[in-house]
Amino acid sequence: MLMHVINMGHDVFRANDKLAEKNRKLLEKHEVFAVNVMGAIGSGKTTLIEEAVKALKDRYRIAVIAGDVIAEMDASRFRKLGVPTVPANTGKECHLDAKLVEKALEELDLENIDLLIIENVGNLICPVDFKLGEELRVVAVSVSEGDDIILKHPMIFKTSELAVINKVDIAKAVDVNPETMKRDILILNPEIPVLLTSKHDKESLKAWIGYLEEGIKDMKGI
Ligand code: MG
Ligand code: ZN
Repeated sequence: MLMHVINMGHDVFRANDKLAEKNRKLLEKHEVFAVNVMGAIGSGKTTLIEEAVKALKDRYRIAVIAGDVIAEMDASRFRKLGVPTVPANTGKECHLDAKLVEKALEELDLENIDLLIIENVGNLICPVDFKLGEELRVVAVSVSEGDDIILKHPMIFKTSELAVINKVDIAKAVDVNPETMKRDILILNPEIPVLLTSKHDKESLKAWIGYLEEGIKDMKGI
């Protein structure tokens, strides 16, 4: 997965940054709060997004960009919740980039969206280098990935603005202490808020959902 990064010149990143900034401005103009949800396959990104959609969709207008090598599977889960969803198939690529998001934005009625959630491709490495135009970068990690997963992927934790340690209900079964994971994240990024979540504990999801709601309100200045 690292190969393409090694082969790519800085020009690719610079071009992507420029396009990401264009996306960001477009989203800002329409007062859309955009979130980039990153994390490995199995970290529970789709489920975290579903829970947020369910909790917020009666009060806010939500849309989802579902990024994946084959994005239709997750996209259908979001469509079932009744929110506009654009699948962004990356083909062979293991990350979304600003160009794919630009294309997806063309299919959305931005004037009628308050919150745009972008599910990135399951990967802890290259999404780091590709800004999409988001306002908030979130990294989700599951306890089932093991407690050395954090320090093995420092950049994504250093560059994210919110971290979610998910599936904490199975921590004992997989012999991982979520507090150790949290400590490792804070070693890498002392400023980042770290949430512990489980889809089976609705109370634990409130802070996650609250962050999104705060973002929407900030974007609208309310
Ligand atoms: Mg998913
Ligand atoms: Zn990639």
